[in-house]
Amino acid sequence: MTPPHAIHTSQVGRIYKTDSSDVHALKDITFDIEQGQFIALKGRSGSGKTTLLNCLGGLDRPTSGTLEVFGEDIMTMSETSLTHWRRQTIGFIFQQMGLLPSFSSYENLDVMARLGNVPRRERRNRVLDSLEQVGLIDYVEHRPYEMSGGQQQRVAIARALVTSPRLILADEPTSELDSETTHSILNLFQQIVRSDNITIFLSSHDPIVDEYVDKIIYLRDGQIDLERH
Ligand code: ADP
Ligand code: MG
Repeated sequence: MTPPHAIHTSQVGRIYKTDSSDVHALKDITFDIEQGQFIALKGRSGSGKTTLLNCLGGLDRPTSGTLEVFGEDIMTMSETSLTHWRRQTIGFIFQQMGLLPSFSSYENLDVMARLGNVPRRERRNRVLDSLEQVGLIDYVEHRPYEMSGGQQQRVAIARALVTSPRLILADEPTSELDSETTHSILNLFQQIVRSDNITIFLSSHDPIVDEYVDKIIYLRDGQIDLERH
């Protein structure tokens, strides 16, 4: 039996109901992604990138279509199962990194490790290994405000890695960073994909990402415009 795709979507739609109108944020989204690929999701502001990432990670639900992640039909899962599945399977990285400001790097990762049910005796090693992997082993005790924007984003990446996710979803993770730091973060993502066979799905409108990824999916008004390999 062939293993399932990392991601399988067919005719996914997401309509937001508002008081004045229905917003068709995603329309007829169909694609498959294999495990261990680095994918860029590109498109202008408002094209549906965040909505799609949220659906892929089980933070939001499509209103139509089929969506399977590692062979699991996450559209029909109960809210409780979905939360459990999400914490064990997905690592999220956001533009606003969402680090807890009064917590050290170690503590920020430890919180996520607990939520993701990393066994107690493995937690310390997982936290230190993840910080090592992003080059921040000397910043274990630092708090976010004691680090640069690029270092903070590395902490956010380490935090996403701590639960050993199979899929990392990164929503415009480099948009607040200068181009040199952007290159180093994209390099890091590439290494993670190659060494850990993780799938990374990253949204951006920065042309710099094109040279790092395996595949680019363009969104325009909620639809796939052109899929480039
Ligand atoms: P992007 O991340 O590419 O900027 P989004 O996924 O945030 O795009 O938004 C896609 C479309 O859906 C936009 O038209 C946006 O205004 C709309 N939208 C996003 N979130 C909501 C919401 N919670 N309620 C209503 N409309 C929304
Ligand atoms: Mg967005």
